[in-house]
Amino acid sequence: MRVQDIEPFFATLQAANPEPRTELEYSTPFELLTAVLLSAQATDAGVNKATRRLFPVANTPQQILELGYDGLCEYIKTIGLYRSKAKHLLETCRILIERHGGEVPRTREELEALPGVGRKTANVVLNVAFSEPTMAVDTHIFRVSNRTGLAPGKTPLQVELKLLRRVPPQYLVHAHHWLILHGRYVCLARKPQCWKCQVARYCDFKPKTPPPDA
Ligand code: SF4
Repeated sequence: MRVQDIEPFFATLQAANPEPRTELEYSTPFELLTAVLLSAQATDAGVNKATRRLFPVANTPQQILELGYDGLCEYIKTIGLYRSKAKHLLETCRILIERHGGEVPRTREELEALPGVGRKTANVVLNVAFSEPTMAVDTHIFRVSNRTGLAPGKTPLQVELKLLRRVPPQYLVHAHHWLILHGRYVCLARKPQCWKCQVARYCDFKPKTPPPDA
């Protein structure tokens, strides 16, 4: 993607969705951290289904700890890898209470020190809860960045660093959501819907997919 196409690419995505939001349901930074921890290799819809039952009962580190391992598993057992996620979440709650006064820390180093929290989860929390211009590269962002030529790279980290360099500053806070939603609903993995893509003119992907009835 040519440098001069990046600004209109994001301006178009912004015009279609000025205030993009994560599809994970949360109302506090701790609820968001919990939802993101539970979402690895699971759908947002599946996580929301579980947290809609969990959060009214327990939505603070202390309350989750009081549920205990078995109690917590009862709420999240419909989510893949729930046993290891329960262990990580309980350990995370303990650390939040012991080291952070029960609050979610706001630095990458402190977040990545929590069990089950890697670079991607830290980026999501920093971006979504604290509006930091970070770029959590998931499978959708990785694919869209490579396919469009926006920020090609062999690894998520390469793509992340390139996006941080190439995305104009005014779009950095929301770029993560626009790219995820674009990948989830338009630039699909197996068959991108180029015929209805609003940013097609800026995208390097040459064999543009024709409409199904063409
Ligand atoms: S034109 Fe096709 S490949 Fe390019 S961003 Fe749009 S849907 Fe994806």
